[in-house]
Amino acid sequence: MKTGQIHVSTENIFPIIKKFLYSDHEIFLRELVSNAVDASQKLKVLASTGEYKGELGELKVEVLLDKEAKTLTIRDNGIGMTAEEIDKYINQIAFSGAEEFVKQYEGKEGAESIIGHFGLGFYSAFMVAEKVQIRTLSRHEGAQAVQWESNGSPEFTLTEIEKDTRGTDIVLFINEESAEFLEKSRIQGILDKYCKFLPIPVFFGTKVEYIDSPEGEKDEDGKVKRVSVDVPNQVNNPKPAWTIAPVDLKDEDYTAFYRELYPMSFEDPLFHIHLNVDYPFNLTGILYFPKIKENVEVQRNKINLYSNQVFITDSVAEIVPEFLTLLHGVIDSPDIPLNVSRSYLQSDGNVKKISAHITKKVADKLAEMFKKDRADFEAKWDDLKIFVEYGMLSDDKFAEKAKTFALIKNTDGKYYTIEELEEQIAPLQTNKDGKVVVLYTHSLEEHFSFVKQAKDRGYQVAVIDGPLASHWISKMEQTVENLSFARVDADTLDHLIQKEGELPSKLTEEQQSELKPLFESAVDNQKFKVEFKSMSESDAPIIVTQPEFIRRMMEQQKYGGGGFFGAFPETYNLVVNANHQKVEALLKMSDDSEKSTKVKQLTDLALLAQGMLKGEELNKFIERSISFV
Ligand code: ADP
Ligand code: MG
Repeated sequence: MKTGQIHVSTENIFPIIKKFLYSDHEIFLRELVSNAVDASQKLKVLASTGEYKGELGELKVEVLLDKEAKTLTIRDNGIGMTAEEIDKYINQIAFSGAEEFVKQYEGKEGAESIIGHFGLGFYSAFMVAEKVQIRTLSRHEGAQAVQWESNGSPEFTLTEIEKDTRGTDIVLFINEESAEFLEKSRIQGILDKYCKFLPIPVFFGTKVEYIDSPEGEKDEDGKVKRVSVDVPNQVNNPKPAWTIAPVDLKDEDYTAFYRELYPMSFEDPLFHIHLNVDYPFNLTGILYFPKIKENVEVQRNKINLYSNQVFITDSVAEIVPEFLTLLHGVIDSPDIPLNVSRSYLQSDGNVKKISAHITKKVADKLAEMFKKDRADFEAKWDDLKIFVEYGMLSDDKFAEKAKTFALIKNTDGKYYTIEELEEQIAPLQTNKDGKVVVLYTHSLEEHFSFVKQAKDRGYQVAVIDGPLASHWISKMEQTVENLSFARVDADTLDHLIQKEGELPSKLTEEQQSELKPLFESAVDNQKFKVEFKSMSESDAPIIVTQPEFIRRMMEQQKYGGGGFFGAFPETYNLVVNANHQKVEALLKMSDDSEKSTKVKQLTDLALLAQGMLKGEELNKFIERSISFV
């Protein structure tokens, strides 16, 4: 037996390891299992180059729990280590690097993930174990098996032992505070999280499976009996879809993999993108487009980041642009510097390139789908819309590409690209300043009469809805020349699309001033501004409008952005049609109470058309209307 000192230049690294990893103790298992996988992969490589001439056998990793002995063992049949190798790889750990790291990063965010980077992976075992043994037999013919043991102080012992199977057992004697890691379900949970797609089969315990009775026993119906047997429980799928070439995968395979990733998800994704990059960085992955519902937030943080099939994190905010976090799926890259702090990631050139590349791929895929099968793309549009709008708002390069496939639906259910729509409506909907005005509604139901009036004039009305609508509209107005948007209820049609030469007004200014107080007293004048406009005789006598600017401000406040306006007061225009015969008739009426009843009735009708007549006022309106019958 040999005893020695682990080469640690700091007094004692272990308390520091424990402290550092406090929040993330569970990753010890990820580190040890991936070391076991590495040891197996290395043996495969040696066998393929002819350096290892023995039998490979079935390479696998086993995690063994012994609750009574309070041990957790990670076993592999990989390359193993000789005493010299232990000395080199375990005792002379890069603790000088670790010391530097400790000084530099102590207390900083992300520090806990640095540990693997400095070769401290194995030592993370001491977060949960009071004693650790390495029992190993090297791949070399006639090698002597050895056991390394340490209790977490820099001292270790090295002994020769009996072990006749190739490979390594890492035995953790779990410490008292870490008793949770002696629970089967806890271990299973960690393996599910980090080891689900490791490239070498990983086994933990057994599971029950039902098979035909091996003795051929029959039940009453003469059928072979089904019996339950315990079989080894493999926790991982060593060949996940993203590691397979796209040509070898069918649509069903992608859907099946989606289910494997998100067993709790009930809805299939809309479509996927298989990423495969090897220059200037290595990256593979599959991104899925979910059907995005109005509630954008719940969709986030579904992309899982892997490094060589080892799960790292599901928070990818630093690696992909924010709008892409709405997607689901997997990104695997050995080149992403996973083991450094978040702020470093954000400024890292490689990470920026990855992010730009993914954005480009996503835009290209959408453009390709649009070109290939427009009908299918249109069918998917309603589910894609928020994603594309979000992308256009947050990334100018994406916006540039998206202009060719971003669609606008009209009230007849037809879809146009922005350019197509502009071309369609230009002849009728160009105003006197040469701007093409897109009329829109967020709800056909709510704006029925406004939409009808617009359509009666031959105008098209677009349906633009969703939480990002008004932000997106502003963006389009800024980036598409000569295009402006107006909601159908923002003003009278003649003012929404102003043409040369206004209609003359039948009412004189004096007559308007005479009538104005009547209307003002019919409504809450904090909220409504009464104005007269010369509209067509066939238009409604009164309409309630909400100026485009005020409404957009309110909407944008509601969904973030532009907070400095404070609470914007809700205000409307009560527009009186100065050419309507019913309005003109009021002038000739002498009975004041009859006049105000008429005015009330007319304003109520206008409110009703906007869905703004409610409660007691609505009730009064109904009663008044009945009295007219
Ligand atoms: P890293 O994996 O980053 O190299 P670790 O601290 O996890 O750092 O492991 C240190 C070294 O110990 C490994 O590089 C490897 O040479 C050796 N090692 C660890 N676990 C095993 C194992 N199960 N079989 C063979 N060698 C191992
Ligand atoms: Mg390691």
